[in-house]
Amino acid sequence: MTVAALREGGECRGEEMARYIGPSCHLCRYLGEKLMLKGERCSTPKCAVERRKIAQGRRRFRQRKVSDRGLQLREKQKVRFSYGVLERQFRGLFAKAATAPGITGENLLILLERRLDNVVYRLGFGDSRAQARQIVQHGHILLNGRKTDIPSCLVESGDVIAWRQASMKTEYYKALVEKIDAAIRPPWLSLNKETMEGMVLAPPGRDDIDPKFNAKALVEYYSR
Ligand code: SF4
Repeated sequence: MTVAALREGGECRGEEMARYIGPSCHLCRYLGEKLMLKGERCSTPKCAVERRKIAQGRRRFRQRKVSDRGLQLREKQKVRFSYGVLERQFRGLFAKAATAPGITGENLLILLERRLDNVVYRLGFGDSRAQARQIVQHGHILLNGRKTDIPSCLVESGDVIAWRQASMKTEYYKALVEKIDAAIRPPWLSLNKETMEGMVLAPPGRDDIDPKFNAKALVEYYSR
């Protein structure tokens, strides 16, 4: 799957989308903004958006007017790329969000926040969501004392996220313990730095949604 295949048109025709395995920075350049997909590198001058402020694959002097549908698609892609979710999974979450009480777009963003890979990222166990997903998939994480290697698993209030005993012997874990203080956590999560156990204090609310995401555009995109 290339960036070109992600452009307006592919998904509008309802094509099944595979996981994008190309360079993360191309996604940021395609959307023309920083999605912070690569952890620490995103805050350095090495960031591809900073270095080259031209959207991926676009020519400097051929800026087309984007349609409303194109803008909605772009907003949807921004959220989907940020959380690293497949189109099919994303549609499934949207359907779930639409049946829940409240505003569908906000419900969707809250569901995405509750994914286990996102929680592992928010706790500071991974530098990026992609890294957090790998940590979960490799079986390093216990959810309420049970090994859980499904990144899409949704956490509930009171859930405890911890490291597996064997994983605590890895070099990655030892380095993480040294630097975890610097990680910033949202108010709906807590972390015990002694035991490296995280806890979901409450489900994320609308105030915990990243303001860079446009919940209304998500609903408009799927309502056509
Ligand atoms: Fe995006 Fe991060 Fe790459 Fe910058 S370094 S282009 S923010 S993924």
